[in-house]
Amino acid sequence: MLKLLTLFDLKSKRVLIRVDFNVPLVDGKVADDFRISAVLPTIKHCLSEGASVVLMSHLGRPNGQNNPDMSLMPTGEKLAELLEMPIKFSDNCVSSDARDVSLGLKPGEIHLLENLRFHDDETKNDKRFSYQLSKHGDIYINDAFGTAHRAHASNVGVVEYFSKKGMGFQIEKELQFLNSVTRNPQRPLTLILGGAKIGGKLELINTFIHEADSILIGGGMAFTFLKAKGLDVGASIVDDSIIEIAGNILIQAKKRKVELLFPTDFLVAENIDKPKDRECVECDHIPSSKMGLDIGPETVQIFSDIIHSSGTVIWNGPMGVFEKPEFKDGSQGIAQAMAKASHEGVITVVGGGDTASAVKQFGLHNDMSHVSTGGGASLELLSGNQLPGLFALEQ
Ligand code: AMP
Repeated sequence: MLKLLTLFDLKSKRVLIRVDFNVPLVDGKVADDFRISAVLPTIKHCLSEGASVVLMSHLGRPNGQNNPDMSLMPTGEKLAELLEMPIKFSDNCVSSDARDVSLGLKPGEIHLLENLRFHDDETKNDKRFSYQLSKHGDIYINDAFGTAHRAHASNVGVVEYFSKKGMGFQIEKELQFLNSVTRNPQRPLTLILGGAKIGGKLELINTFIHEADSILIGGGMAFTFLKAKGLDVGASIVDDSIIEIAGNILIQAKKRKVELLFPTDFLVAENIDKPKDRECVECDHIPSSKMGLDIGPETVQIFSDIIHSSGTVIWNGPMGVFEKPEFKDGSQGIAQAMAKASHEGVITVVGGGDTASAVKQFGLHNDMSHVSTGGGASLELLSGNQLPGLFALEQ
């Protein structure tokens, strides 16, 4: 059983919290504080119960090297601003100086450690590194849902050095939503998938073919299925290694009577950088020199109608290249339909980093029932897989 933070006596204790401060930085400043805000309830609870707090996180992929562009210092500044209090910062997460700062913390103080991935021992789940990290706290709390699908030192190795360990409020919230939509969803249950890569989502499709009432597939991954159906998809992205699997999924869906829908129209262009020659075409009239870069308005309408008649909708993967204004309308249309449906009582769950940032870009993130902070982790959990970061806490 995973233990929740509220079950621990925190008075005068040092709580070591694995947070997910892997946020976008622009010109050395935090561009989006979504993930920092998400763990404020956990941090505030510890402080109000008389504990001191040591925070550790990764940011980006520095590959074991000290990289000032990936320093967590800006996240500390943002946290200090959000909590309106000073934060202590150490520039090496396992130095003796950093450990001394943690040991000297008074109740109500916060100490943020520098990027864990400046040491490649973090991703190697190294024993000694895990032990060094454990010296920062008396109690270990994991509140980094976004890395729970990885077995690293700060969320798996470190755990064995603590008798008191548990999860924070953010992980609890993620589990509540994601488990309830898979175990006991309000029906009909609709899964919407998009994005460029199909491989990582195959397992999800295989799981949901047994669970969902409808599966709607847009984005770049739709073209592999359309090709498997025998359609000419022009220059659109296709994963040829998966065509056979895609064909089997089509057969499975028919057998199980799951509604598996693909776009009926697309916005196509010669390539992403030539949006001016874009046009809207039927799915069986994609010109050979052009690629599909967004779903068309007819598809948005069809998908929106299904969203409105669903009890639960899970959306993972954008419908088009939403980063370009010319190809954002499909994703925006789906986000708007989901937002409207949420207000009508449909449970709407958005998972995946790109989808979450698309929804945020459209200003609709507060209209969804739940926007997951973890892309890969939410995919794994929804696929029915165990997350190593959570499994370690149960031992
Ligand atoms: P993924 O990581 O697989 O969820 O893919 C997300 C990316 O898919 C986003 O950056 C989108 O720009 C991209 N994407 C969505 N639709 C298409 C498409 N039709 N063609 C190429 N890329 C796409």
